Amino acid sequence: MRFLTGEPLALDLLNTRAHTPSGDIDALDTGEGFQSWLEVQADRLTPLSAAPTDADRAAVRQLREYVAGAIEQARQGARPSPETVAALNRAVRAAPRYTVATWDGERLVADVRRDGDERDRLLAGLAEAAVELLTDPDVVKVRGCEGPHCTQLFLPAHPRRRWCSPALCGNRVRVARYNQRHNG
Ligand SMILES: [Zn+2]
Repeated sequence: MRFLTGEPLALDLLNTRAHTPSGDIDALDTGEGFQSWLEVQADRLTPLSAAPTDADRAAVRQLREYVAGAIEQARQGARPSPETVAALNRAVRAAPRYTVATWDGERLVADVRRDGDERDRLLAGLAEAAVELLTDPDVVKVRGCEGPHCTQLFLPAHPRRRWCSPALCGNRVRVARYNQRHNG
C-alpha cells in the first residue's frame, strides 16, 4: 500500500491520491487498486461484495472531490461551501446507520447496519467520516506532509510530526540532505 492509511477515514480517502517521485498515483484508477484500499479499511467500512465497478469508483471520486474541498476550507478555519456540505449530508442520509440487537448464539450483540444498496452504504460511511472530521475542532490541525512533492494529509497525534511516514518521506528527506552534503 503506497497510500497513507490509519488516519481519520476522511483523510485516508483524500490520501488515495498521491504524488510520488515516480509520478502521480490514484487508488481509484483501477478496480483492484480500490478493492485493496477497501480491504485495508475493513474495520471501518463494509467492503463491497464484488470488485468495485467503474460507477462505484466514479461515485467515490466525486465524493472525494467534495471532501477535499470541505477539508481544505475547514483546515483554514473557513466555512466550507453550503453546496459541498449538503452533498455530504445527502450521501449520509442515503444510507443512515442504526444499531440493532442480534442474537449471536450465546448473547445479544450490537449490530451496526445501514440501509440502501452497497454503493450507497459505502458512500454514506465515507461521507459520515467526513462529517465527523469537519465538525471536530481538531480539523484545523490537519497537516500536509513536508516530504518533497508529497501531498498526503494527516492529523498529527504529536505536534512535531512532519511526514506522512518516516519510512517514506522521512527517508527521502534524509537521503536528499545526505546527497546535498556530499555532492554539493
Ligand atoms: Zn509524505
